[in-house]
Amino acid sequence: MKVERGVFAPARGDLDVARLRADFPILAECVNGRPLVYLDNGATTQKPRVVIDALARYYERDNANVHRGVHTLSRRATDAYDAARATAQRFLNAASADEIVFVRGTTEAINLVASSHARPRLAAGDEVVVTAMEHHSNIVPWQLACEAAGARLVVIPIDDAGSLRIDQAEKLIGPRTRIVAVTHVSNALGSVVPVARVVELAHRHGAVVLVDGAQAVSHIAVDVQALGCDFYAFSGHKIFGPTGIGVLWGRAPLLAAMPPWQGGGDMIRTVSFEKTTYAEPPFRFEAGTPDIGGAVGLAVALDYVTAIGLDAIAAHEHDLLAYATERLLGIPGLTIVGTAGDKASIVSFTVDGIHPHDIGTVLDQEGIAIRAGHHCAMPVMKRFGISGTARASFALYNSRADVDALAAGIESATRLFA
Ligand code: PMP
Repeated sequence: MKVERGVFAPARGDLDVARLRADFPILAECVNGRPLVYLDNGATTQKPRVVIDALARYYERDNANVHRGVHTLSRRATDAYDAARATAQRFLNAASADEIVFVRGTTEAINLVASSHARPRLAAGDEVVVTAMEHHSNIVPWQLACEAAGARLVVIPIDDAGSLRIDQAEKLIGPRTRIVAVTHVSNALGSVVPVARVVELAHRHGAVVLVDGAQAVSHIAVDVQALGCDFYAFSGHKIFGPTGIGVLWGRAPLLAAMPPWQGGGDMIRTVSFEKTTYAEPPFRFEAGTPDIGGAVGLAVALDYVTAIGLDAIAAHEHDLLAYATERLLGIPGLTIVGTAGDKASIVSFTVDGIHPHDIGTVLDQEGIAIRAGHHCAMPVMKRFGISGTARASFALYNSRADVDALAAGIESATRLFA
C-alpha cells in the first residue's frame, strides 16, 4: 500500500485536524506495525487527554461517595457530579438540570423509559412505533414492553437509499400510537432521521417521542427544545467520554409522572417497612452509587466538543464523508449500503466476493480499525438482503489520509481475494 501515513491532507472545513489528533494519545499507537487508522467511531470513540486526565484527577484528589457525606471530599465529589449534570443540560439545551438522568448509556436510557414510562401506560391494542433502521437497543425494550401489555410494535419502513419513508410515517403514526421511538442517526446506514417532522406527526396524535441520539451527539448539534421530542438518550463513550455513563433527558412533567424502575439508596425520600416514598427526578431514577468519575469525564468530553464547535465538526465530517464516498465508489465491486441524501459520518459497504469480516481482518493487518457485521441492526441487513456490511465511521480527528488508507486497504483485500 502506498499511502503516506502520519502526513495529513487536512480535510476542508475549519478544523485543525493535525492539532486535534495530538489531543488523543491512542492515535499515536501502532497496530500490527502500522500507525493506527481508527475508523470505528460508531462503535466507540477515542478519548482526548483532557478526559483521561480528568478521570485520573477525580480519583486522585476528589473521590468520595456523593449526596450522603458531610466531609469535604464527599462535598467535592457531589459538586463535581452536580456540575456534570449542568454541563449535560447545557449541551442538550434542556430546560433544567433536573431533566438530566445519568444512566449507563443509551441502552439503559431506553430501557428506563420502556420500563417506567411505557409499561404502566401501555394497554392491549396500543401501538409503539419504531423505524426499520433502529439499533437492537431501540427495538427489544419496546418489544418487551409491548409483549407485557398486549400492545403492537409498528415499523416505519425505509427506502432503498436507507431514508425514512415519511409518507409511511404519516400513515402509521395514528390514534393508537402511544410512543414513537426513533434513532437520530442510523448506526448501520448513516441516515439522518428528520426528527422534528416525526415529532410533529407523533404529537398530532398525543404520542410521546423518544430519540436515540447515540450516533448523533458527536456529529450534530442537538437542542432538545428545538427538536421538540420528549426523551433523548445518548452514551458518553460515543462522544469521547468514558464507557459506563450516558444521559437520558426527559421532559420534567413526564419524568415526574414516572415511577422508579430500580430501588435502592439515593432514590428515596423516606423508607419504612410500611411505606416508602421516592425522591424527585432525576434522583428517583439513579438508585445506588452512580458512576461519579464517569459523569466528571463525560462533562469534560462535552465541553471539549462544545469548544471545538459541532458546526465545524459537522462540516469537516461531511467533507470526509463525501471524499470517502467518492473514493470507495471507485473500487470495483464495492457497493455502499445507505445512500440517503442526509447522512452523518458513516459509510457501510459490501465488496463482491469478500465477506465483510475478511475485509475487516485484512484492514486490521494494515492497522486500520473498521467494524464488520450486522452492527446490532439485523432488520436493516434483512431489508437490504445481506448478512452484514463493513463499516467505516468517522470522527473529528479523522483525515482524508485515513480515507486514502482505507481505500488502499480495501483494494489490497480485493486483490487478495480475487
Ligand atoms: N443506538 C444506536 C444507534 C447505537 O449505535 C448504539 C451503539 N452501537 C446504541 C444505541 C447502544 O449504545 P450503548 O451500547 O452505548 O448503550
